[in-house]
Amino acid sequence: MRHYALLGETLRHSLSVPIHEMIFRETGFSATYELIKIPRADFSTQAKDVLSHLDGCNVTIPYKQEVMALLHSVDETAGKIGAVNTISRHDGVLRGHNTDAPGLAAMLLENGLNPAGQVCFVLGTGGAAKAAVYTLNKLGAKQVLCVSRRTEENDPAVISYQELDAMTKQVTGLLINATPVGMWPRTEDCPLPADVIARFSGVADLIYNPPQTRLTEIAAQVGIPAVTGLHMLVEQAVKAQEIWQERPLPPELPPYLMKNLNLFT
Ligand code: NAP
Repeated sequence: MRHYALLGETLRHSLSVPIHEMIFRETGFSATYELIKIPRADFSTQAKDVLSHLDGCNVTIPYKQEVMALLHSVDETAGKIGAVNTISRHDGVLRGHNTDAPGLAAMLLENGLNPAGQVCFVLGTGGAAKAAVYTLNKLGAKQVLCVSRRTEENDPAVISYQELDAMTKQVTGLLINATPVGMWPRTEDCPLPADVIARFSGVADLIYNPPQTRLTEIAAQVGIPAVTGLHMLVEQAVKAQEIWQERPLPPELPPYLMKNLNLFT
């Protein structure tokens, strides 16, 4: 029996255990999955020991970057993004991967939100935004701009919310919300006003709880294709298991999980 886990600081609302247990069951892989909470002050002392007892793990906020120092190697995607959300351990060798990026790519392409040739606006500048920028560029976006509350660093690829408002009066594009604004329990919050949301060609909100956010509701009301992050969450979990199980899993698995998980009932 193999042992896997999710490492993070606050895991109360994680959906990873039911998702991974269902993948184990559906693929006949004998393994366990648990949540391992590590307080921030203890990460440097505890994480190495925890990793040595697992066959692999996922990593979440706030350790996706910090954990890289404990690994023997990282794959190309994780290296380029600068963040690891999946770790495999074979013969004591720890390797870091990033399955958020291919998870997001699958979600966008399967929901009619192909960024190829489009200007893309990513709200936020955290770990999820970095994975989004990498993915959008890889899928052939014309231009990718992050939108931040703090633009003092003078990076031309980062604009303010005022600049977003002005730009979207001239050019349409794809909107990706990579901020936690609208996440449970503050589900009434929305990162942009309705008149600005109506200017985009498509909206992807990386938030997966609630399954519909205020942002995607407003987009849908004005006829814009919109999706929330549950699809990405499921895809990144399946891609993590492909790494752990060292084989491709059936393409029908993500839609089957989306249909049968019942995570919010
Ligand atoms: P994070 O680092 O905590 O925050 C991302 C960025 O959001 C921050 O850097 C900040 O950018 C902006 N932000 C934070 N609070 C804000 C506020 N109150 N108003 C406006 N902007 C705010 O989070 P993360 O790890 O990148 O994750 C972001 C979201 O993506 C979360 O909801 C997470 O659950 C989701 N996510 C989903 C998946 C999935 O599989 N679906 C995977 C990863 C993450 P500025 O300071 O530059 O404005």
